[in-house]
Amino acid sequence: MLRVIVILVTAAIVVAIAWFLGALPGTVNAEIGPYSFEAAAPVVGLGLLVLFLVLYLIVRLIGELIFAPRRFRRWRLERRRMQGDAAVTHALLALGAGEADAARREAARSRRLLGDTPQTLVLAAEAGRIAGQEEEAAAAFRALAARPDAAFLGLRGLLRQAINRQDWTEAAALAREAERAHPGAAWLRGERRELAMRTGAWSEALALADADAPKAALAAAAADTEPDPARALQFAKQAWDEDPALVPAALAYARRLREAGRAGRALEVLRRTWASTPHPDLAALALEPLAAPLDRVQEAKRLAQENPDHPESQLLLARTSLDAGLTGEARRHAEIARDSGLDQRRVWTLLADIAEAEGDSEASRTAQRDALRQAAKAGPDPAWRCAACGTTLPAWRAACPNCGTPGQVAWGTHALARRPDQSLTIRPVLSD
Ligand SMILES: [Zn+2]
Repeated sequence: MLRVIVILVTAAIVVAIAWFLGALPGTVNAEIGPYSFEAAAPVVGLGLLVLFLVLYLIVRLIGELIFAPRRFRRWRLERRRMQGDAAVTHALLALGAGEADAARREAARSRRLLGDTPQTLVLAAEAGRIAGQEEEAAAAFRALAARPDAAFLGLRGLLRQAINRQDWTEAAALAREAERAHPGAAWLRGERRELAMRTGAWSEALALADADAPKAALAAAAADTEPDPARALQFAKQAWDEDPALVPAALAYARRLREAGRAGRALEVLRRTWASTPHPDLAALALEPLAAPLDRVQEAKRLAQENPDHPESQLLLARTSLDAGLTGEARRHAEIARDSGLDQRRVWTLLADIAEAEGDSEASRTAQRDALRQAAKAGPDPAWRCAACGTTLPAWRAACPNCGTPGQVAWGTHALARRPDQSLTIRPVLSD
């Protein structure tokens, strides 16, 4: 419809011009040197019009010739860009399909056609990564990291590679750099927390901990590694306040309190934790300042009062009584522990030690032999174990060194049970 209107309007204008020219009256005379010229006005008008059109076409042609190379360059660039965009799409599709070789080929093509842009570098790095070409991926990530507009992407890639290599020092340095490039990124927070745990930077792990994190364990570990005594005391207090039943938290807090000259408060902390979760290390720390065996018995009694029925209290009283030469008391407490059902190697070896201390009689020698025979058959002593993977550890750790799970290392025993098919299975039994 618009086309018809344009044609009609153009035809009307042409007819109007022709009519105007045809209706022009008179003639035009011109003399140039020896030449003279005379023509009717409509002919001159038409001639001028044709001349104008010819001049216009000549100027257009010259313009085309001047601008042709530039236009050709622009056309070529446009074609490269379109081909580059197509290569990016193909590389993305290949990445999505897990076709490593095709992804690498298309990523390299897109890089050749479009140059090193954040998009092509990310594609090249990812393609290298899924093809197992770690050095190729690292080179692309480094190129990204050097660009101010995409540094975070490059650092993130390099960080992931360092974590996969288990190069924790390098990973921690990259995480700090990534934090500077993109402060407060949620993803990075998780990675930094993980790294802090892996590298034993417990105060940092605690600072980055989310609501579900085992803060008591992290704070206890931070207190153990913190060189500044005042800060260490703060961490230890935080740990114990979070979980007064956590033995390492009580140990850390009591130790730091004692260093700060608050021995009485340290004992209170140890006694309170003994009331819920008695552990030999709590008693060892409580008795540490006391050298005289009878003083140690007295302190052990005060500690045991907090949890009198627990076998651990009985074992403590038996051991300290034996050290003080009170063999009768020692036997009484050790037998209470044994009769409570505590069938562990340490109970029987303690009974053997008591029998030995009771004198060089045939009865005591028999009792000692019996106890040692029982010890050989008894269950294992409790130890620190990761509840997540079952690894036994020589000492408590805030995170399992084997599986990396934080806050899962607990004091207890694993009973080795033989199933009917005779295969050995490990059954976790945590002591209370
Ligand atoms: Zn574990």
